[in-house]
Amino acid sequence: MAKKLRQIAIYGKGGIGKSTTTQNLTAGLLELGKKVLVVGCDPKADSTRLLLGGLHQKTVLDTIRDNKTEIQLDDLQKTGFKGVRCVESGGPEPGVGCAGRGIITSISMLENLGAYTEDLDYVFYDVLGDVVCGGFAMPIREGKAQEIYIVASGEMMALYAANNICKGIARYAERGDVRLGGIICNSRNVDRELDLLRAFTKELNTQLIYFVPRNNIVQQAEIRKKTVIEYAPDSTQAQVYRDLAQAIDENTNFTIPTPITQERLEEILIENGMMEPEGNYSI
Ligand code: ADP
Ligand code: MG
Repeated sequence: MAKKLRQIAIYGKGGIGKSTTTQNLTAGLLELGKKVLVVGCDPKADSTRLLLGGLHQKTVLDTIRDNKTEIQLDDLQKTGFKGVRCVESGGPEPGVGCAGRGIITSISMLENLGAYTEDLDYVFYDVLGDVVCGGFAMPIREGKAQEIYIVASGEMMALYAANNICKGIARYAERGDVRLGGIICNSRNVDRELDLLRAFTKELNTQLIYFVPRNNIVQQAEIRKKTVIEYAPDSTQAQVYRDLAQAIDENTNFTIPTPITQERLEEILIENGMMEPEGNYSI
């Protein structure tokens, strides 16, 4: 029986941990024997650095720009940890052009060059997603990714961005098959963060699929250009990413999110954490 390819887009505010989380959970899926392609959709082009053991040398847009000979798949796609395939779409020069266009150009080129092979289980699109422009939605707008996860934390701006992303998803979900698979909390050690994320996800008609603790081992691995699973396979954080990979692999909870108003978001923040429970005020 042919495998069903799952194409997943990861969104979230800049700096929230999209690339780190995507690569680490990908390493978990690779350990499960899954075949994965990671497509970086951020002009920073650092979505595959931990899987490749260093920055991808050439983005798709750069390759197209100084296209001397005919472009081959091997020019764009590099192989990393446990056979993972990695592509960086790259972006326009800062201030010129639309990053979303680059993403779609890259995806079309990958399709034409036969990157979406039948043995693949997963394609991940690591998308810069705090900018609410049409470009950010490209992978879901064009029907490439049907499944989305949002990386967030208990910080207000992360939840604000997650709610905005849900507005975009809800719009595209009404006309197509795109669904939200859940929110991944990448902890910032905010007070009562778990309660807050649970309340937030419930209100948005989705689930908290996993709570990833903050841990310095993530940075220690990052300095060495490795995922935590490769750098410290026996660490508790490596196990966290394996469990997250498994949760995604087994996920069946896909919904159309119901975004909330700014006022309601502020209320949820106050109800869950920004205020100590009654009779228990700390200094
Ligand atoms: P994004 O791709 O969303 O812009 P990154 O994945 O580049 O964000 O993460 C930003 C920084 O946060 C990285 O330097 C990374 O080391 C750090 N980071 C991410 N997740 C964790 C974590 N769970 N614990 C500690 N540091 C983390
Ligand atoms: Mg990133």
